[in-house]
Amino acid sequence: MEKTLNSLLREHRVVLKKAYGQNFLTDKSLLEEIVEKAGVDKSDTVLEIGCGAGALTSALAEHAGKVVGYEIDSTLKPVLEDVLAGKDNVRIAYKDIMKESVAETEQKIGGSYMLIANLPYYITTPVVMKFVEQSEHMKAMVIMVQEEVARRFSASSGTPDYGAVTVGINLRGSAEILMRVPREKFTPVPNVDSAVVKIVMQKDKYAGADFEKVRSVVRAGFSSRRKMLVNNIMNFYKLPRSAAENALASAGIDITCRGEKLSAEEYVRLSEVLDK
Ligand code: SAM
Repeated sequence: MEKTLNSLLREHRVVLKKAYGQNFLTDKSLLEEIVEKAGVDKSDTVLEIGCGAGALTSALAEHAGKVVGYEIDSTLKPVLEDVLAGKDNVRIAYKDIMKESVAETEQKIGGSYMLIANLPYYITTPVVMKFVEQSEHMKAMVIMVQEEVARRFSASSGTPDYGAVTVGINLRGSAEILMRVPREKFTPVPNVDSAVVKIVMQKDKYAGADFEKVRSVVRAGFSSRRKMLVNNIMNFYKLPRSAAENALASAGIDITCRGEKLSAEEYVRLSEVLDK
């Protein structure tokens, strides 16, 4: 008979750590649904960040060719060894994923992969942006995040949830919410509901763009949401009004609009004009 999460934690004397965002999933059908919606098959290699007690890792190992997992908390090692016994296609590094460069992680993975994870809340956006911005070989991400964060990742321009993070994702791919997951599905129960988001990478979307420069224009665009874009550009780049207005006009952007109205493509165009 399969052991429950509580019996596993008791047996291996593991105490859950709130600081690491340890809210675990136990519902098998929900885990299967996530893996199914991610579209994983035996030709896929999966990177899982935060294996926890191995419930998602186990489901992934059943469907994927190979799973490379990271877990910061080495006290979970005996639990993971117990749960994953006999699953030879899983390798786990007991390491902080933020302390390794994406290039190093990708070297260990060796080839293209999907990132699938129930991410720890306290580092969701830094982890996502690190992989979205720096990855060379990630095909897609399917991640469980707080519902509010999921809305920010997948927002349409002009809505309150649309921000620099949304544009950052749209520069290299596109995001959609796959499903909502109520807080009661986690142990212990967190204070907020979650959602599963899929980010499909389209790395050639703006091939040739200088992403550092585009991201700086995006920061300028959202530096004060109440101000018009032209004012934010003037302040950020120390430009006279006429120069800022000319730049917007040359990029084909309405000079009265706000930064939150601009698509990723418009930010790329504006960055090219400002660069001249
Ligand atoms: N995958 C498990 C599940 O779905 O039940 C656990 C998910 S839990 C929300 C997040 C996991 O990430 C925890 O086990 C936590 O210890 C781990 N974690 C937190 N910070 C991490 C980091 N910087 N690097 C790697 N793992 C981390």
